[in-house]
Amino acid sequence: MIELRALEYSDILAIINSLGEESYRAFQIYKWLHRGIDSFDEMTDLSKNFRNKLSKLAYIKNIEVLDHLTSTEGTVKFISLLNDNNLIESVLMRYKYGNSLCISTQVGCKMKCIFCASGLKGYIRNLTAGEMLGQVFLAQKTLNKRIANIVLMGIGEPLDNFEAVLKFINIIKEKGGIKLSERNITISTCGIIDKIKTLADLQLKITLAISLHSPLQEERENLMPIAKNNPINKLIEAIDYYIMQTKRRVTIEYGLIDNLNDSHKHAQLLGKLLKGRLIHINVIPINPVENFKFSPSNANRIHSFINTLNSKYNIKTTVRRTLGQEIKASCGQLRNNYIK
Ligand code: SAH
Repeated sequence: MIELRALEYSDILAIINSLGEESYRAFQIYKWLHRGIDSFDEMTDLSKNFRNKLSKLAYIKNIEVLDHLTSTEGTVKFISLLNDNNLIESVLMRYKYGNSLCISTQVGCKMKCIFCASGLKGYIRNLTAGEMLGQVFLAQKTLNKRIANIVLMGIGEPLDNFEAVLKFINIIKEKGGIKLSERNITISTCGIIDKIKTLADLQLKITLAISLHSPLQEERENLMPIAKNNPINKLIEAIDYYIMQTKRRVTIEYGLIDNLNDSHKHAQLLGKLLKGRLIHINVIPINPVENFKFSPSNANRIHSFINTLNSKYNIKTTVRRTLGQEIKASCGQLRNNYIK
């Protein structure tokens, strides 16, 4: 069976033509599909016969919301069921400039960063581009609101599911569909160097975010096992290459863990490592995850960390608002509760 949501318009057109149907049918289908409908029956301007024919070779529904939780500041966390009964999460965040949806790209994760809940239960499979799109439709439908920004920062490592992620970007850019610009898409990666370079060569207008979390190779390896094969010096070279190819400002994500990577020395080393580059640092007080020994840095330490980078190294550094802590909005936290 063909997963219709994983197709670009040209793919749908090819199928319609192969069925000997008129080309405008492809646009009708595409239009309905991107309104987020779940079944062919809802495509009311297609004949029953044709809808029947389509439902024999393709399917639409690939995800459904199992539950959603809303925090006091309006963050909504969706826990959803895929057709094979796997669970994933998506998080909707409301900002002044519009709604931002954080989507998952894999079921589980291989990366095993020690502060992250996503990899705790291991890796199961990649999501399809259609399942990424399905998360957008679900959020839009549940809230009756348009999603203005999409961040690939949920469960999974986007660059470990490279092809499906690129397909997803192509689908959401197309006119007649969701029609978001690349500028409204952020991909967050733990720092897979060869994939960053491949992405750079594509010269997309997306925002790339790199999870760095430490300026020290050994410490980073302890936090993020992926760092062993993707050392900091090479990662910085890849970031420079990315900036050269795309002329886009790169975001550096830095999770502040109390008394571990939040000292003045860390801020200085980070400043020296990154200064003069087209980057922005996003500091995230680490979200405490059950059974983890880490806690977030206190307000004083956060403040002085940021202050050092801003004033001494002239690197724009901001704190990410910690939205949705009471609803366990950090990657993979809620899914783990459900699996239990
Ligand atoms: N695999 C990608 C995207 C998913 S994680 C990546 O590593 O970037 C999205 C971001 O949340 C990453 O910066 C990740 O390091 C961070 N993160 C994971 N667990 C967290 C936690 N408990 N508290 C705060 N940030 C966390």
